[in-house]
Amino acid sequence: MPKDSCTTTITTGTRATPTTDSLQEYRRKRDRRRTPEPAGGRPGRRSGRRKPRFVIQQHDATAMHWDFRLEAEGVLKSWAVPKGPSTDPREKRLAMPTEDHPLDYATFEGVIPEGEYGGGPVIVWDHGTYRNLTEKNGREIPVEEGVAAGHVKVFLEGKKLRGAYALTRTGTKPRPRWILVKTKDEHADARRNPVRTEPRSVISGRTVREMAEG
Ligand code: MN
Repeated sequence: MPKDSCTTTITTGTRATPTTDSLQEYRRKRDRRRTPEPAGGRPGRRSGRRKPRFVIQQHDATAMHWDFRLEAEGVLKSWAVPKGPSTDPREKRLAMPTEDHPLDYATFEGVIPEGEYGGGPVIVWDHGTYRNLTEKNGREIPVEEGVAAGHVKVFLEGKKLRGAYALTRTGTKPRPRWILVKTKDEHADARRNPVRTEPRSVISGRTVREMAEG
C-alpha cells in the first residue's frame, strides 16, 4: 500500500472522517532542519464557532504561483494557482491541488532555501475569514466534503478579495485539475486586477521580490 493512501478522507454518509494524520505528506516533503516553514505537527482543532480562515500566499518557486488555502478539518486545504485569483467572473484560473498544510502556515512568510521543496520566497498576499457556501443537492455541506466531492464555494472576507469564489474539479486522477473562479455577486469587478496592482504582503508590506532580497 502506498504510504500516502492512509491520508485520504473517507466519506461516510454526511460526515467526513479523517482516517489519520493528514499532514504526513506535508512533513515528508520537508526537511525540518533546512526550511524555515512550520514543522507541521498534528492537525489543529476544528474552527468551532470561530470563523474559519483563508490565506493566499504568493510563492516564487520553480514558477510563480499563488497558494490558495482554506481552513477545514484542522488543516489548510490547498491549491496552487499559477495566475493567481481574479475578481472577474469570466476568468477561469487553473488551481492544482497540493498537500494539506498546518494551520500555522497561514502566517508564514520567508524564503525557503534553494534545493528544498518549494524553494523560493513566500509572502502572505491576502488573508481573512470565509463563510462556507458549499452545497450538494441543495444542502450545505462542510468544505472537506466539498473537496472530496470536487466542488467548494466560499465567501471570502479578505483585505484584497471579497465575495464568493468557487473551486471545481475538472480532471481526474492521477493529475486532478481544479478551476478557481469568482462567482457573480456585487463584489465581482472585471476592472480590478489585484494580483498585478496590489502585490504587497498584507502582513509585512513587502513584495515577493523584496522578500527574496531579504
Ligand atoms: Mn507554493
